[in-house]
Amino acid sequence: MSISFKRTLECALEAPRNIPARDLAGMLSCNDKSVVADLFAAANEVSKKCSKVLLKRALIEFSNICSRDCYYCGIRKSSPLINRYHMTIEELLKVSEEAKEEGFTAIALQGGEIESEANTAFVEEFLSRVDIPEITLSLGEQTTDVYKRWKDAAKGKLLRYLLRIETSSTELFSKIHPPEASFNKRLGAIRKLKSLDYITGSGVMIGLPGQAIDDLANDIVFFGDEKLDMVGMGPYIPCDSTPLQAPTFSSQERLELSLKMIALTRLYLWDVNIVSSTALEVLSSGARDIALRVGANVIMPNFTPNKYRLEYQLYPGKQQIK
Ligand code: SAH
Repeated sequence: MSISFKRTLECALEAPRNIPARDLAGMLSCNDKSVVADLFAAANEVSKKCSKVLLKRALIEFSNICSRDCYYCGIRKSSPLINRYHMTIEELLKVSEEAKEEGFTAIALQGGEIESEANTAFVEEFLSRVDIPEITLSLGEQTTDVYKRWKDAAKGKLLRYLLRIETSSTELFSKIHPPEASFNKRLGAIRKLKSLDYITGSGVMIGLPGQAIDDLANDIVFFGDEKLDMVGMGPYIPCDSTPLQAPTFSSQERLELSLKMIALTRLYLWDVNIVSSTALEVLSSGARDIALRVGANVIMPNFTPNKYRLEYQLYPGKQQIK
């Protein structure tokens, strides 16, 4: 292994945030098998040092109704291909109960982005009625008032919120979203969540068309600057019905980059929860388990009822994965 990579890993093992952005980029572009193996081993060592244990959260995708038109997403507002659904409170409570019976103490509620009183009240009612100790919400950008109402409704439960920034590059952000989407508004929402004491997570897609290695290195620095509690990221997977298509990187490259991003995020941030995403598993069977050995420690098995699963296709191949 080259002296400089060896030194980078040694420094990373001494303290958190001890890797300069240029070395993060150097590691991300390095394809030397022995360097990558050492990177993965170092990330695993940090996971152990920080006593990261495997956390499981039952994922429930309760609605695919979305007001946004993100250029990469299969459930975007303009997607002509899907039937829109919205689970009832009773259905949602039942699925949560099933997860609990299977031993889950945490659920993750995900859906399209809707800003309406009906949606706010629905989530509020669910949060106050569900009998599960830990809940993650992934329901997009909302007003401070809405975030506060949900926090109040979940009193006595541990509440987390995952809102991906998608990319920390403002330029790339504007290329993968329609003009009405605002990077600053999304970042503002992440900061709002933190200030309201949510356990806050964010993340990015890896291998987007036009994404540079430097952008990915900057994403890791962004996670540190925003002092995130969780990071959820995964490879970009092109979806037929969307305007954004060919990724810059092959599927093998996106898989490798995603694993390196997970390992480097663990090495850079140390004590943070990192999700091993479903999208990894779509690219390669078993990849989610590999991610758990190179820095990730959260897994989110899908509990969305079968009849809805096909309609929640953020990207192809997703619905086959439990
Ligand atoms: N709308 C909600 C959550 C639903 S989308 C929210 O904003 O939080 C959840 C995540 O799926 C997105 O944040 C995005 O990072 C990811 N995603 C969407 N389309 C994708 C694609 N084609 N490939 C990979 N990931 C995708």
